[in-house]
Amino acid sequence: MFENLQDKLNKAIKTLKGQGRITEINVAATIKEVRRALTDADVNYKVAKEITDRIREKALDRKVLISVEPGQLFVKIVQEELTELMGGEAQGINIKGDPAIILIAGLQGSGKTTFSGKLASYLKKQGRGVQLIAADIYRPAAIDQLKVLGEQVGVEVYAEPENKNAVEIAQNGIALARKTGKKIVIVDTAGRLAVDEAMMQEIEALKRAISPSETLFVVDSMTGQDAVNTAKTFNERLNFDGVVLTKLDGDARGGAALSIKTVVNKPIKFISTGEKMEALDVFYPDRMASRILG
Ligand code: GDP
Repeated sequence: MFENLQDKLNKAIKTLKGQGRITEINVAATIKEVRRALTDADVNYKVAKEITDRIREKALDRKVLISVEPGQLFVKIVQEELTELMGGEAQGINIKGDPAIILIAGLQGSGKTTFSGKLASYLKKQGRGVQLIAADIYRPAAIDQLKVLGEQVGVEVYAEPENKNAVEIAQNGIALARKTGKKIVIVDTAGRLAVDEAMMQEIEALKRAISPSETLFVVDSMTGQDAVNTAKTFNERLNFDGVVLTKLDGDARGGAALSIKTVVNKPIKFISTGEKMEALDVFYPDRMASRILG
């Protein structure tokens, strides 16, 4: 995960680390390399410029040049800025209502169904009664896939394979959850291969009809800036609450993780790092920043 970025940032900073005395020229050169590392990681140029400008300001403010350990202090400043860039504080999900409804949206293949299973398992392990709803009306295989995952994690899956009305399916599933005393429902929806108007209208209508307390947008981090652009489009229509970044295990660059918060102004809440049901983590910007600076 993020190997390229990690490598380049560490190379950039290495010359400062461990040095007893550094000069303004050293710092300027390192800042330039940090900026290049970020743009190489697919971070938008403007964003990369803003963050490196702030790093320079902080370095001056905190008198990096005359500090006892200038290299360490500089790394700390970069870490703070990366943390801010990725959203600052970790953000939880809103669980409100009887049952609380979590709507999962995103393009086909982004990892929605896999994530729905993981989230169900995660919430179940917290002792909550959970039910999954398969509202993908286009891919019968998606229903089967969710059923397999549900069985694997011990969570019931509501589906109506013959029904082509996603709103109805979701409403019936929610009614059942209420009857059986389940406190949370997770609604897995249909995605298309690319953003299209019909999909947007469907998911908007579904959101309006079921009023979720949390809408999560799932996106494949390996698609880099496309992930950021898709997030922007979905957010304009859906006003979602948080982002789930998937396939981070295959993302060597990290551009989506670093840019989404700035561009969309919605927090990343979960990250997915594999196909197994356990490969889910709450997203902590500070931990990710430390990891990147390894
Ligand atoms: P959906 O169409 O959005 O529901 O996407 P799926 O959940 O079916 O996922 C598409 C493919 O990506 C499947 O083969 C999943 O096993 C795989 N996948 C999902 N999440 C991850 C992840 O975090 N890492 C990796 N390596 N594969 C993933």
